[in-house]
Amino acid sequence: MKIGFIGIGNMGGPMARNLIAAGHDVTVFDLSEDHVASLVNAGATGAGSARTAVSGVDVVITMLPAGPHVLNVYEGTILGSAPAGALLIDCSTIDVETSRIVAKMAADKGYPMVDAPVSGGVGGAEAGTLTFMVGGSDADFASAKPVLEKMGKTIVHCGGAGNGQAAKICNNMMLGIQMISVAEAFVLAEKLGLDHQKLYDVSSKASGQCWSLTTYCPVPGPVPTSPANRDYKPGFAAAMMVKDLRLSQGASKSFQAQTELGARALEMYERFTDSGNEGMDFSAIIKMVRDS
Ligand code: NAD
Repeated sequence: MKIGFIGIGNMGGPMARNLIAAGHDVTVFDLSEDHVASLVNAGATGAGSARTAVSGVDVVITMLPAGPHVLNVYEGTILGSAPAGALLIDCSTIDVETSRIVAKMAADKGYPMVDAPVSGGVGGAEAGTLTFMVGGSDADFASAKPVLEKMGKTIVHCGGAGNGQAAKICNNMMLGIQMISVAEAFVLAEKLGLDHQKLYDVSSKASGQCWSLTTYCPVPGPVPTSPANRDYKPGFAAAMMVKDLRLSQGASKSFQAQTELGARALEMYERFTDSGNEGMDFSAIIKMVRDS
């Protein structure tokens, strides 16, 4: 398959490498010439523009920072420059409304399209074990699945256009809230004279169990691979959590959902990143909880 890949940063880079490893003919474009050069070394064809990257391809994949970038690249280039009938897959995490606007624009021009944001981070992108949350028609999902399987392990069809993004922001709102709850529990345990490991031994097997505890435990020790054991180097940067919580709060406002804890979590992560911690793993929020 000929694939045009636009946006080959921390996530898109390794995802494109996995497509090359699977034998696809991949042409890449990024505003960073260094990123393009590094993918060319890995076997991709480098393009000097998004237009060149999508010309003559069967599939276009985008992995861009946010909604405005996606809208811009789709309006400015992809719709019209990609061959008629090319399958369009947007893997960026963006707001549901923009995602549905782009899907409608693509449909109006006759392109099959899915939104397919991911979970699993850079490690999952490198290992090809990402989880894809996909929005789009049954037929477009069926076309996208074999391509996504080259980059991920779990591919879930979440419903119509934009529902992949909906699943992503709902999931990350749970994650953001749960990390604060785990951090608060460990800080309370410290005050009560309860050992970190003992709390972990109980809660990892009891009803407090969650991913923030068992995979990204915010104190060093109980989970040796968690970012807390390497000075909170990400992992999943706090700035990314702020981005995703802003998306979920934006959606809550637009669709009139009551998400009080989501709003409070956003406020806390914003306070944390505003004091210069945007590059730390989001589990480092425990430092703010402990100090406040
Ligand atoms: P990144 O900043 O490393 O990569 C984005 C790339 O897009 C950059 O290389 C940038 O130069 C390029 N770009 C921006 N505008 C462009 C344009 N107009 N044309 C071509 N290239 C352009 O970001 P990332 O970490 O790879 O994240 C990408 C997306 O994946 C984001 O939406 C993010 O929320 C989502 N995501 C990231 C992670 C993670 O752990 N990093 C996990 C899940 C989802």
